Amino acid sequence: MIGVEVAEGENTVNTSPTTVEVFASCLRHAMDGRGLKQADLTRMAADRGSKLGKSQVSQYVSGKTLPRRAVVQLLADILEIEPFELTGESWAAEYESMPAPAPAARAKSAAPAALAPAVPDDAATPAPAAPATPDGAAAPATSAFTPSSPAMSDPPGRAEARPAAAFPEPRTFADRSTSSSHSEGNIMSENTRTFKKSSKLDNVLYDVRGPVVDEAARLESEGAHILKLNIGNPAPFGFRTPFEVIQDMREQLPECEGYSDSRGLFSARKAIMQYAQLKGLPNVSMDGIYTGNGVSELINLCMQALLDTGDEILIPSPDYPLWTACATLAGGTPVHYRCDEQADWNPDLADMEAKITPRTKAIVIINPNNPTGAVYAKEVLEGIVEIARKHQLMIFADEIYDRLCMDDAEHVSIASLAPDLFCVTFSGLSKSHMIAGYRIGWMIVSGNKRLGEDFMLGVNMLSNMRLCSNVPAQSIVQTALGGHQSVKSYVAPGGRVCEQRNYVYEALNAIDGITAVKPKAAFYIFPKMDVKKFNIRDDEQFALDLLHQKGILITRGGGFNWPEPDHFRIVYLPPMDVLHEAMEDLAEFFETYRQR
Ligand code: PLP
Repeated sequence: MIGVEVAEGENTVNTSPTTVEVFASCLRHAMDGRGLKQADLTRMAADRGSKLGKSQVSQYVSGKTLPRRAVVQLLADILEIEPFELTGESWAAEYESMPAPAPAARAKSAAPAALAPAVPDDAATPAPAAPATPDGAAAPATSAFTPSSPAMSDPPGRAEARPAAAFPEPRTFADRSTSSSHSEGNIMSENTRTFKKSSKLDNVLYDVRGPVVDEAARLESEGAHILKLNIGNPAPFGFRTPFEVIQDMREQLPECEGYSDSRGLFSARKAIMQYAQLKGLPNVSMDGIYTGNGVSELINLCMQALLDTGDEILIPSPDYPLWTACATLAGGTPVHYRCDEQADWNPDLADMEAKITPRTKAIVIINPNNPTGAVYAKEVLEGIVEIARKHQLMIFADEIYDRLCMDDAEHVSIASLAPDLFCVTFSGLSKSHMIAGYRIGWMIVSGNKRLGEDFMLGVNMLSNMRLCSNVPAQSIVQTALGGHQSVKSYVAPGGRVCEQRNYVYEALNAIDGITAVKPKAAFYIFPKMDVKKFNIRDDEQFALDLLHQKGILITRGGGFNWPEPDHFRIVYLPPMDVLHEAMEDLAEFFETYRQR
């Protein structure tokens, strides 16, 4: 087995996946023995004056990271055991021979602590996945310490998502002492250089693919079947790309070998321009239309082009978290305005205006909204325009779901109401044409362009630097935006998306302690939990508990920059029979759930 180097602050162990797994299983065993959950470790560390992040604990428990020596000691103290009971004897010997860490170099804050003043979240360094077998499945660890898991001839059902292998039988000290040999785990010298992620990423959060998703992947690698209600990716749930789109891409592929104009192909931008005309966007020209590798790339590009350190940008809460992540990464300060659940999740205009400061540059709106499914009323949009006008702010409108409105909801582009302001409107084909994997989105500049001339120089520079977006995907924009729109049949009454929305909405509201506003667009619902009834203090722990007990993967509300632990998001794309099963499991889960 090939040794793996795991960064440990100044103390670095050259170790192997086996060692990581041994640590994780010993830790889980010790936690189980004391009836402690991951959140308890975080809390008990805080009680001792040390900081132990939730994601850190999750990484240790799932066998992705080895903690530093000081953290091993802290965990051992909390669990009232000796450190070697977590590390195994031979690895413990390695730790013992390492120099003690210099607290000042590690601590982020000056908070007093017995072992380390603070244990920053970024101390965690992921361990590599287990090597893959030829058929692509993760290979089991080949160690004397691999828990003796029962033979798994058939993959377990979702209800057995936490197979026995995740909770190994107690092992004896003698067992552990042969766990890792020095040939697998040598100590690197103190001077060995290791590589950490940049501090720019310290405050960037993207939980849609975060620690709970990592834990789900770990369970899957052990054979569990996980139902993924966490990501808005239509294709795996049987939503197919319109045939004409695929056929046209095939036809044009030989013409797509070179880079295109950095903004995109003329035909694509012309079609987007015509679309903008139909939506009533004022003062749009071909040079104000940019294609991107999905809307995602363009959000990042705009945040980089606009924000200086300390510049503020108003972003909804809950949000699609990429906006907050990209604003943070660009050095800006995202300031969240509240969307009001009591008002069908429309933005709270008073809260929005109250959060404006002299450093505020722009307002972001996501309409139709992910994660709430709201479609904003025209009067609300007019109110936002009024605020932007009064405080001289730019408007960014993410409208990627504008063709997925249901019932009588009518989507109005905010830019159509603001001819005198500088607006950037985003959309794409990932959702409306079920081609999230092709990576094609766009942005349209409209309104008073003189206000944003300098910003556009920045946009052009960044657009040129990435040369162009994916040309084969650009080649089908014209086909996709013209003619019959097959997505309409999905969202019309009787259509799959509409019917699934109706069912999930009713099923959730039938659960005691759960309430949900009916979404009017997209394929997300953002239910509220009665936190008193379920004793929920930590939504990540809730997501992990649901995953472990029922094999259902959702995204916690905090992942959408929602400040309280009382919401979660469900993607209702899976077919009806799967949704039935999922809702039954969810109802069963909430019947007895009380967070510990
Ligand atoms: N904006 C919102 C509101 C989204 O929900 C998503 C994806 O889920 C995106 C943008 C990213 O879309 P794309 O696939 O075009 O990058």
